[in-house]
Amino acid sequence: MKEDKFLYNWNILGHVNIVQYLQKIVKKKNFLNTYLFSGAEDVGKKTVARYFVSSIFCSSEENIPCNKCNDCLEIKNLTHPDLISVSLEEGKKNISIEQIRDFRDKFSLTPMRSEFKIGIINDTDRLNPESSNALLKIIEEPPKNSFIILIARDTDKILPTIKSRSQNIIFGGVKQKEIYDYLVDGGADKNLAQELSRFSGGAPGVAMAYLKNPKEWEKRKQDLREIIEIMQSSINEKFKWIENIVDKSRTQDSYSVLSKTLIDFMRIARDLCIFKTDKHPELIHPFLQEGIKVVSEKYKVEKLLEFYNFANNSRNIIFENVNPRLIFENLLLI
Ligand SMILES: [Zn+2]
Repeated sequence: MKEDKFLYNWNILGHVNIVQYLQKIVKKKNFLNTYLFSGAEDVGKKTVARYFVSSIFCSSEENIPCNKCNDCLEIKNLTHPDLISVSLEEGKKNISIEQIRDFRDKFSLTPMRSEFKIGIINDTDRLNPESSNALLKIIEEPPKNSFIILIARDTDKILPTIKSRSQNIIFGGVKQKEIYDYLVDGGADKNLAQELSRFSGGAPGVAMAYLKNPKEWEKRKQDLREIIEIMQSSINEKFKWIENIVDKSRTQDSYSVLSKTLIDFMRIARDLCIFKTDKHPELIHPFLQEGIKVVSEKYKVEKLLEFYNFANNSRNIIFENVNPRLIFENLLLI
């Protein structure tokens, strides 16, 4: 293979060390059995995984991955015969054992087009005990010329025996300035780029998704405005809001709804604390500044920290069938 085949063409924001490391092992074709890509949602784990796999399968002679050849396109569309992937199905609480068995059957077949068979398990933190054990068996006895990339937000929820057999690659947040520059270079309005890069919390995927969908961004801002408004409203209004969220968590993916709302509360609590203590507060939600000012004046820092901690701890127990009504009553009636 010619050396110049490795003019890598990875369009990745941040994660420089991870990218360099993965490019090096692509070049050496020296893969471990299991990698665990962990880090916040939309920080870039899946994008890096796609470039990693494409660089191994791409059939172009230069500019790897070319993003144009059949292999590259099939990886993008998840139809490549040598790439087997599993994700949490919409509305489901866990990845089922049937999904992992189906994965195993396809993964154990000899590679059809490439030298390797690659498996991707998205949402590895959403396996249940049975599917975790089934996955562990595959990892313990992997088929020849294969490896698996596990992708997860929360590694605490992964079986320790799976973790200990994986190389954990931790994705930290990308700097706000880097995201801002990237958005502006791509033609985004400076104010919007500022708003989105702050809001993204280091996850470029978040900023880019909203940049592509301004309507969704306005809707998202409206949801956040509602939270800061509800913190200032009457008890009756608060109960009404809580009923609404409880209903939503019944009709939609309960974990996502609750987790997302609690993260919103945590991030708003963070802004409230910063606003109270910092002379020049850099808010995650500058568009909420007026409401944040009003609410932060109502409470002492200790109370706001308590509020933050309660939201954070609640996030860790929402899997355990706790009553969401109780969580939000405790949060809003501080
Ligand atoms: Zn290609």
